[in-house]
Amino acid sequence: MIGEDTPCISCRYNLRGLSSDGHCPECHHPIQESLGDDRLLYSDRTWLARVSRGVSWMYAAGILFATALAAIVVLVASNTANLLHPRQLILGLPASTIYLAATFPLIGSVIPLIIGGYIATLPEFGAKQTARYWPTRAARLAVTVFLICVALALLGGLAPRAGALLVVFGVFIAAACLFAFLVAIIQSLQEILQRIPEKQLMRRCDTWLIWLTTAGVGVFVLPCMGYIVGALIAVILVLWAAIRFASLMRSIRRAIIRSIV
Ligand SMILES: [Zn+2]
Repeated sequence: MIGEDTPCISCRYNLRGLSSDGHCPECHHPIQESLGDDRLLYSDRTWLARVSRGVSWMYAAGILFATALAAIVVLVASNTANLLHPRQLILGLPASTIYLAATFPLIGSVIPLIIGGYIATLPEFGAKQTARYWPTRAARLAVTVFLICVALALLGGLAPRAGALLVVFGVFIAAACLFAFLVAIIQSLQEILQRIPEKQLMRRCDTWLIWLTTAGVGVFVLPCMGYIVGALIAVILVLWAAIRFASLMRSIRRAIIRSIV
């Protein structure tokens, strides 16, 4: 007999008073599967609120990045006729100024991404720290290495000649860390989604990882194939991945909130 209010994991019907070895009277889902103490419903609410806040930060990062990149694409597209003379005026301002202005939110979007990722991977209170939590640790390790590489690259930038190698090295490793960070974050969110359970969203996470990989490979490969067209396709791939990321974060935050009410 189930002594407390317990929603069915499939249809949310209240299973209180039913036998734990039966099936849900509404959707015939095995009741046993609704009783796992690993379920998000029974997790610490403060921790869950933090995860949800972290996901919101990452949603904001996705929106910021996509908006800034879209602005740059529109600027480039509107100038393709007479290819981007830095002194050409757009809206009364030199093109170079506008590009620079759009670059700041583009690069700056990594800040809410890291803050969000850090908050969303804070350890769950009282949870057994088993090997299955490796994605959260991997995410934090990737952020640490990323920050070190950015610092190295900035340091290299201060000494233009001697530091050029340091800049290239730092930027390259930082990009790889960012990629690893995103993969680990998605994996750790999938662990959480599994405890709702939210199978459809878990599949969307898998699909997004494919987009991320495609965009990541595209950034390196496509510009080599043809300067303008290749670069444009690579940028559109990245833009698409960013839009899908924001949309995924919004859905995950909603699913987490829905799972506990
Ligand atoms: Zn049910």
